[in-house]
Amino acid sequence: MFDDKKFKYRIVYLVAVIFVVLLINYISSSMTTKQISYNEFLTLLDQKKVEKVLIQKDKILIKSTSDSKYANKALYTGNPKDPELVKTLKAAGVSFNAEVPNNDPILNIILYWIGPILIFMILGRMIFGKIDKKMGGGVMSFGKNTAKLYAENETGKTFKDVAGQEEAKESLVEIVDFLHNPQKYAEIGAKLPKGALLVGPPGTGKTLLAKGVAGEAKVPFFSMSGSDFVEMFVGMGAARVRDLFRQAEEKAPCIIFIDEIDAIGKSRDGAIQGNDEREQTLNQLLSEMDGFDSSKGVVILAATNRPEVLDKALLRPGRFDRRVIVDRPDLKGREAILKVHSKDVKLGDDVDLSSIAKGTPGAVGADLANIVNEAALRAVKHGRKVVLQEDLEDAVEIIIAGKEKKDRIMSDKEKRIVAFHEVGHALVAALLNNTDPVHKITIVPRTMGALGYTMQLPTEEKYLVSKEEMIDQITVMLGGRAAEETEFSMISTGASNDIERATQTARSMVTIYGMTDKFDMMALESISNRYLDGRPVTNCSAETEALIDDETLKIIKNCHNRAIKILEDNRELLTEISEKLIEKETLMGEEFMDMINEYKKRKNPLNEESSEI
Ligand code: ADP
Ligand code: MG
Ligand code: ZN
Repeated sequence: MFDDKKFKYRIVYLVAVIFVVLLINYISSSMTTKQISYNEFLTLLDQKKVEKVLIQKDKILIKSTSDSKYANKALYTGNPKDPELVKTLKAAGVSFNAEVPNNDPILNIILYWIGPILIFMILGRMIFGKIDKKMGGGVMSFGKNTAKLYAENETGKTFKDVAGQEEAKESLVEIVDFLHNPQKYAEIGAKLPKGALLVGPPGTGKTLLAKGVAGEAKVPFFSMSGSDFVEMFVGMGAARVRDLFRQAEEKAPCIIFIDEIDAIGKSRDGAIQGNDEREQTLNQLLSEMDGFDSSKGVVILAATNRPEVLDKALLRPGRFDRRVIVDRPDLKGREAILKVHSKDVKLGDDVDLSSIAKGTPGAVGADLANIVNEAALRAVKHGRKVVLQEDLEDAVEIIIAGKEKKDRIMSDKEKRIVAFHEVGHALVAALLNNTDPVHKITIVPRTMGALGYTMQLPTEEKYLVSKEEMIDQITVMLGGRAAEETEFSMISTGASNDIERATQTARSMVTIYGMTDKFDMMALESISNRYLDGRPVTNCSAETEALIDDETLKIIKNCHNRAIKILEDNRELLTEISEKLIEKETLMGEEFMDMINEYKKRKNPLNEESSEI
């Protein structure tokens, strides 16, 4: 049906071209020729204004002399078959000829009709062909493929560009080898997976990895995004899928890459309102994947960060049966990614990428690339030729908390509250055993809304968190508010984010991690969208939910009281450090720990060894 439309369009174009040629022929002939009456012709003869006459079957062509008023026009008149004509011409002494001139009608047709039409058609092809390509199947080709063809090496990426995803690369190496040498696998009778699904949070390098596979395999790379298939008209997406696979089979061995496949691959059941277009597209994709012969060497890669919404049919063996997890990079991975991205950046001697990697737990590749770039921009801003460690550290903070907002002026009273709040967090963290060390405390406001913040950094990468650590984390989060209470006996709105995070943590202890006696190891919530926001979904009765709230509240109350106790016991220290912070606005971790240790010595000069206060 789509080809039909294309055909119609061609016909319209052809008619237009014929019309234009007709017009041109008409105009050009009316400019150089003129019809006159037979009478007028005889008058011209009488006046001796005729030089030459050519008698045709039903026309008489006349060339007038150069002094007549028709000097530069070819004249013609009808041939009335006048028997006297020859006599008259002889009398007038005009040279005449009755022969049909050497004027081949076929040649004429070619010259005046076919030639111009051909030229227009070629022109049309050139112009519309280009527009077509640019718009990806625009006016001229509804439903034609929009799969861009990346020829060999054109992605410009190899596995070298993808850092810190060693496991993922390992599983893809096999596919690369298969594309290089399909026969090797066919001979032994091994079947390779038709498709591999790259799964992971946004920005971890899924798209990059797929391009890397194409670059390594040096085969054509058809890349489309899932949303490219979803069109306004039902059936269009399905046509695109068909087209894509037809093209790919011609070019095999090759790779088809469908980015963000969840746009079309969403589970079909459970939706209240069906989406015909998406369903048709998905069905077409499923049948194409079944239909093609994988021994030819077509491999389908797809990427998603929502694997749980994908239709089960897509995941069954014979389709995307292989799943490659592209997860957040660990410490080593982050360092490797920083290295890749700072390859072309001039780094100063003091730069220590591993310490930056340590300071960015949870960051994905895209964040790290961004950090390196922010650092380079900062170096330029400060008029330096190389990037220093301080640039990188500042960039990390910009990514985490936003830019510094130096022009926001806080009243002295507010500044005091913020300082006590932040030192409250820091002091609780320093005085508890199962917490990460304090890296930095600041009360310089940030563009992302924080009036100040306390940054803690883990000493090493952790994959497990103990119950004690979670309790301590919550206590630290509540330490800010606790400090406000101890010092000012009043509370402010500044703790909203702390409260939210503390509640979230306490609740997961109850519902997900089985850390309470009351519910023991019962799963009360499950995580949906694991690779996106990781929102928990409750799966228990309403009565239980109320009990969950009680348990959560119990944990929070406990931790809150603990924080208040710690700060009340160390009130002097709290005040001392807060005054210092108000004066300096930023305290680094070492300065902060020095103050604590010095205070300890002052208070307890006899027992220097003691690490407890
Ligand atoms: P995704 O498709 O998983 O959302 P992308 O592949 O689009 O993420 O990654 C975005 C950018 O982040 C890349 O262009 C690259 O600059 C950077 N990046 C992400 N992961 C990595 C990695 N593992 N190694 C190097 N750069 C990475
Ligand atoms: Mg992507
Ligand atoms: Zn706080």
